[in-house]
Amino acid sequence: MTELLYQTDSYLKEFDASVTAVDENARSVVLERSAFYPGGGGQPCDSGVLSLAGQTWPVSRVRKSPQGVEHILGGEASLPSVGANLHGRLDWEHRYQLMRTHTALHILCGVVFRDYGAQVTGGDMEPLKGRMDFEFETLSKELVQVIEEAVNREVAAAHAIKVQILPREQAFQIPDLIRTKINLLPLDIQYIRVVELVDLDLQADGGTHVANTREVGRIHVVDYKSKGKINKRIYIEMEG
Ligand SMILES: [Zn+2]
Repeated sequence: MTELLYQTDSYLKEFDASVTAVDENARSVVLERSAFYPGGGGQPCDSGVLSLAGQTWPVSRVRKSPQGVEHILGGEASLPSVGANLHGRLDWEHRYQLMRTHTALHILCGVVFRDYGAQVTGGDMEPLKGRMDFEFETLSKELVQVIEEAVNREVAAAHAIKVQILPREQAFQIPDLIRTKINLLPLDIQYIRVVELVDLDLQADGGTHVANTREVGRIHVVDYKSKGKINKRIYIEMEG
């Protein structure tokens, strides 16, 4: 299995790793370790390049497979072989925008739950844009403005973001995690990664986040929509 470097250091932009498997048909390579995020939890996968002695391959897609993290390579060049020691470099602008966006969505979750007790039912993001669905009965223009002010107060409050990987039993002791439904996680998952916006939000989460809410910058609530009687969608955007 690939060691997931981004899980413990989301600011890692470059790394070295050897190839453990190659699939010529899929044009993919599995690495012993990787900083590339394979996508999941609403966060799109990373892109970037892999290189070896002057040869470079664009990483056009990244995904999880039973063998580990697969890096799907663009271009026409023949693939590196198993055992080759590659250098990986992320498209950092793309990744960092996603980190800011992902953290912004957790700020929104934290505020809406704290102030209104509303649970999240779904969400999605792209760089500097995201949406989140809440179990909310009524949402008005005025309320959306109040929420926007509240989330920006939490950006300015500069909450540190703490990531921990905890044994399942220990994670189950944390009362705040129950609302992210960790009890629904498959039994074979022994360790649970917990992302905490200190004093604001705590979730079981596999994604990459900034280290402090201040890095997110101004959050704009740009739209909202009713998706059913108790389901309301909020759209946010960040500044580039
Ligand atoms: Zn998340």
